[in-house]
Amino acid sequence: MNVPILTIVVPCYNEEEVLPETISQLNTFLGQLEEEGVVSDKSKILFVDDGSKDQTWKMVYKASLQEKRIRGLKLSKNVGHQNALLAGLFTTKEASDCVVSIDADLQDDIDVIREFVQKFKEGFDIVYGVRRKRDTDTYFKKTTAQGFYKLMQAMGVNLVYNHADFRLMSKRALDGLERFEEVNLFLRGIVPLIGFNSTSVYYDRKERLAGETKYSLKKMLSFSFDGITSFSVTPIRMVMAVGCISFFFSLLFGIYILGSKYFGHTESGWTSLIASIWLIGGLQLMAIGLVGEYVGKIYNESKRRPKFIVDIDTFNLPMSRKLIN
Ligand code: UDP
Ligand code: MG
Repeated sequence: MNVPILTIVVPCYNEEEVLPETISQLNTFLGQLEEEGVVSDKSKILFVDDGSKDQTWKMVYKASLQEKRIRGLKLSKNVGHQNALLAGLFTTKEASDCVVSIDADLQDDIDVIREFVQKFKEGFDIVYGVRRKRDTDTYFKKTTAQGFYKLMQAMGVNLVYNHADFRLMSKRALDGLERFEEVNLFLRGIVPLIGFNSTSVYYDRKERLAGETKYSLKKMLSFSFDGITSFSVTPIRMVMAVGCISFFFSLLFGIYILGSKYFGHTESGWTSLIASIWLIGGLQLMAIGLVGEYVGKIYNESKRRPKFIVDIDTFNLPMSRKLIN
């Protein structure tokens, strides 16, 4: 297999501002790769509309009628970046030798895809796009992201540093990914667990071409908290350790109180009593909350709800029904 079939998967949520440029740049780029014989002329670009409320789907659909390489997948509702990406990956897997995922905002350098394919031909099943610098991110995003990677590492989760979801995966790596059946799938953590030969390609990340980030601070926080608690039980162990330590100290304190009661000074007692009630009460609440988080995870997983539902798929079923309503 010298000329692989490549599919580029692009999750889009309310991206009408940047989409025309993204469509044209990716289409031209893929055309070049085909002409140079780097990839097969059966290669495609699949735009996944993650329940957008703007013109995103109309644009994608129109482009899919005009350009032979462009396809669209419309999800039944907004399911979030990770699940939208999965929808795209699993839809294209059977018809591709390798699949590249990239954001719609063109922050990632599309030229790097050429190197991805080169690495794939050299035998790598997973190629990570890694940001060399984070110049274009705000100071806040940089520091919080760095803190997140450090925290994850401390919790024993293996993440590729400064790698977002810009990567190439071979068909068999995607087959592997499909066997991770958890509902709450944190791709950046799962992909390194698939195994196979992997490598990284470095690039400079640019500013968002247009539109605004779809990750609010709230989404980012919940994304990282989910990331940590779905990969590691270290937090729950830490809480247990804190509980043990405070139990130990309260024993010492108890001995001290008994001692002072029987050998001399009488304590008024109120301060220490209240202090320990608050301390222990606080610790308990914290522990219960954390246990609740894990129990909640189990609850969600046990329902085995679908990660996404497809509304319209022009990748596998071109023109099968009236596609715009
Ligand atoms: N995205 C999505 N569903 C969502 C939120 C975002 O498909 O609910 C897409 C979005 O259109 C973009 C990618 O995920 O292509 C990354 O989002 P964004 O660029 O806003 O994140 P940032 O780069 O700021 O972290
Ligand atoms: Mg972005």
